[in-house]
Amino acid sequence: MLHGGANLSFSNPAWIRSDDGITVNESPAILLTRDRNAVWHPFTQHGLGQVPLAVASASGSYLVDTDGRRYLDMISSWWVNLHGHGREELAEAVREQVLRLDHVQFAGTTHEPAVRLAEGLLERAGLTGRAKVFFSDNGSTAVEVALKIARQHWVNRGEERPLFVTLEGAYHGDTAGSMSVGRSSGFFEAFRGMMFETVSLPVPLVWNGFDNVSGENDSLGRAEELLRKSSGRIAALIAEPLVQGAGGMRFHSARFLSRLAALFRSHGIPVILDEVMTGFGRTGSFFAYQRTDFVPDLLCLSKGITGGILPLAATIASETLFGSFLGENFRTALAHGHSYTANPVSCAAALASLDLHEATRSLEQVERINRALARGLEHLALLPGILRPRTLGAVAALDLAGGEGYSSPVGRTIALRALELGLIVRPLGNVLYLMPPYCTTDGEIDNAFRILRDILSKPSQYHRTK
Ligand code: PLP
Repeated sequence: MLHGGANLSFSNPAWIRSDDGITVNESPAILLTRDRNAVWHPFTQHGLGQVPLAVASASGSYLVDTDGRRYLDMISSWWVNLHGHGREELAEAVREQVLRLDHVQFAGTTHEPAVRLAEGLLERAGLTGRAKVFFSDNGSTAVEVALKIARQHWVNRGEERPLFVTLEGAYHGDTAGSMSVGRSSGFFEAFRGMMFETVSLPVPLVWNGFDNVSGENDSLGRAEELLRKSSGRIAALIAEPLVQGAGGMRFHSARFLSRLAALFRSHGIPVILDEVMTGFGRTGSFFAYQRTDFVPDLLCLSKGITGGILPLAATIASETLFGSFLGENFRTALAHGHSYTANPVSCAAALASLDLHEATRSLEQVERINRALARGLEHLALLPGILRPRTLGAVAALDLAGGEGYSSPVGRTIALRALELGLIVRPLGNVLYLMPPYCTTDGEIDNAFRILRDILSKPSQYHRTK
């Protein structure tokens, strides 16, 4: 057993000593045993006995395990990493900021990194002077804040509007509000009783070579009918623009989203875009909505905002929405805040990341990656059992025939085999996707596809359920 004596240092594993005086080292087996004894992992069924990868370091597009083996990180560490792992520029910014101002609560104070970041985000969004930035900690809270702003906007005007409109298959995070608007993802059955009222519209899916005009008209018809019946009860429409991520990398067209937003706007209903995944260049424009013909009333950002190294989120709200919270007393103010709101160190990382977008010409990298992904996917799609191949920006996805749904074991089998071959993927059930960091070279992408071809050309192996 480990003890808490004077020599114990939690930050340096070499100093953690067992009772019999043996130094605990970072050997993979020991780390995994300690993990099993002490840790509960996210989105993990521990009853299946899956063994986590013991990661010791990361550099560029690679993770390195405690045995020194390298793995291509083709999911950008849950979609957060943009410029590659281990960037000096981000490390320097963090170090300098910790020493200058590490943290201070953001109610009643302000500081340069937060103000500069708010200005920078508004500039990149083309919203300078037209919106305000509210900081929080992660994608779920960015959404939670947007939902609360939309809801209280109506309350402050004396209207009760309990209903949120969502898209089928949406995922917006794991807090109670974001689960409510993401309930159709199917992840949250256990929490039904704690969710508020939502209604979902069908999503006209598109993929390479398939333009779904009739699906779009059908969904827009449903939206019109809903607005005819219930527009006075609707607080907001919320959508992940162009790509629904965790729901299965489901793509829809910018044309559809523009028409849908215009419909809700024509009834004075705010539109929330959740760009937690799509923001910061992922779909080929800096923000995905910049491919549509409208600007959202509320924009949720997180994940890549710090280049993928520290937690931070921002909800950008239009001046109109901000204005409806102004008053003479606290009653109409937004009663929301977190201990680490606008943490200066996270803000400094985000500012350094904005600079890196310029220095690395990140959108050009995404364009290059898109070409490499499209090439690889085209070849892969020639294999049997591969459906709906699709690429947008630095995202490529396909569906595997058979075994629909998140709980499909097909994805797990493929992920394990890929790991053995030095590639990290995390299929969403039968949906296999690649979302590389922007520093990933064409050669690394080709390598990832070589590994996937090797696996997918033997369907009898990946369709094994045990
Ligand atoms: N919104 C979208 C579109 C997401 O993809 C995610 C996470 O995957 C979230 C919200 C939740 O973000 P977080 O995991 O940081 O709470």
